[in-house]
Amino acid sequence: MSLESLAVRFGTPLYVDSADHILERLGLFQRALSGREHLICYAVKANPALAILKLLAERGAGFDIVSGGELERVLAAAPEAVDRVVFSGVGKTAEEIDRALAAGILEFNVESEAELELLATRAKKLKRRARFALRVNPDVFAETHPYISTGLHEHKFGIDIRQARRIYREAGGNRWLEAHGISVHIGSQIRAADPFGAAAARVSQLVAQLRQDGIALQSIDVGGGLGIDYHDGRFDAASIVREYVGAIESALAGFEGRLLLEPGRFLVAQAGALVTRVLNVKRNGRKTFVITDAAMNDLIRPALYQAYHEIVPVRPRAGKSRVVDVVGPVCETGDFFARDRRLAPVRPGDLLVLLDAGAYGMAQASNYNSRPRAAEVLVVGAKARLIRRRETMEDLLATERV
Ligand SMILES: *Cc1c(COP(=O)(O)O)cnc(C)c1O
Repeated sequence: MSLESLAVRFGTPLYVDSADHILERLGLFQRALSGREHLICYAVKANPALAILKLLAERGAGFDIVSGGELERVLAAAPEAVDRVVFSGVGKTAEEIDRALAAGILEFNVESEAELELLATRAKKLKRRARFALRVNPDVFAETHPYISTGLHEHKFGIDIRQARRIYREAGGNRWLEAHGISVHIGSQIRAADPFGAAAARVSQLVAQLRQDGIALQSIDVGGGLGIDYHDGRFDAASIVREYVGAIESALAGFEGRLLLEPGRFLVAQAGALVTRVLNVKRNGRKTFVITDAAMNDLIRPALYQAYHEIVPVRPRAGKSRVVDVVGPVCETGDFFARDRRLAPVRPGDLLVLLDAGAYGMAQASNYNSRPRAAEVLVVGAKARLIRRRETMEDLLATERV
C-alpha cells in the first residue's frame, strides 16, 4: 500500500493501521494459550477506533474498558461481544456501573472496598447480580516509565493484596455480588517476562487461599502491559509472547479456570503509523528543525513519556543525512517528535512516517491549539478504508456558544 497515495487521497496528518498486523498479533496470544481456556480482552484505550474493535470482536476477542465511554464504543461496534467485557478503572460512577450491569458485561474489576459497596448497591437496585474480580495491587516492581507503572503500593491502582482475602470473604454474604475472578495489572510497556510471572504467582497464591475459604474463582485476569521495542521493530514477537505466556502459565500451575489477558499496545502499536508532511526546514544557530504538519496534539507520547518513535521518509532522498529536531507547529517547546535525530535530507512537501504509532497515538489526540484531529485509515489486505474522517472546524465549534 503506497503511503504517498494514501496521503494524497486522505490528507495529512494521517493515521494508517494494518488490520492484518493486528490480527496476526491476536493470533500469537491465542495460539500461545491454546492449551487452556482463555479470553484476550483487548485494552480499548490503546486505540478505541470502532473498526478495530469490530475486527477484534469477530476473531473472538473480548475487551478491557476503563470508562462508560469505552463501553459505548463496544456496544456501537460489536454489541454481541458485551459479555466478553471486563470493566477496569479506579473511579467508576454509579451511572457507568448501571449501564454496564444492564448491558451484561462479563465482570467488574473492582479497585477499592468503596467501589465494591457501590457495585452491590447498584446491583440490588437494578436486580442484577454483579460478577466482580478484585483488582489487587501485588506490590511488584516492573521497569518502565514512572507514568505507566501501576503495580506498587505507592500507585493509585488496585486493592492491597493483603486485604483481598478478607474482602472476598465479606462479599460472600451479599447475594447481589458474585466473586467471579481476580485481576492484576502492573503497568505498561514492560519488556521483561519476570514481573508478569511474579504478579501471577502472588495472585495464584491468593486464589489457593480463597479456595480453602470455600471461594472458587472462575478466572484469573493478569492484565496487559507487554511492551514492544520502539528502537527495533523487527524483534521476534512470537517468541516474546511465548515467553510472556510461559512465565504466567508456570506461576498459575494448578489453576483450572479461565485465563484473561488485557493486551493493548502489543496488539496495535506496530500496526499503526502516523504520516505527516514536512512544512518547513529551518535553522536556528547550529540547530536544524524539520517542522511537520503533525504535532503533539496528534501524537503526545514523545512529550508525555519521552517516548522514541522511528521516523523515516516515505521517499528517501539521496545526500548526506543530518542531525535535526523533528517538531510540530504547536506553541510548546515540548512539541517535538525527535531531538538530535539523524535523518536523511528532507525538503518542504516531503512525507515522513512515524512508526509504531498505533497505540496511545490517535487515542490520546486532542484539539490543543484548535487543531482538528487527524483522519484514520484501516488497511485490510490491498484495500484502504477511511475509519475516522478528519475533524472539521465545525466539529470543534459545535459545542460552544458565544
Ligand atoms: C492500560 C491498561 C491495559 C493495557 O496496557 P498495555 O500496556 O497497552 O498492554 C490493560 N489493563 C488495564 C487495567 C489497563 O489500565
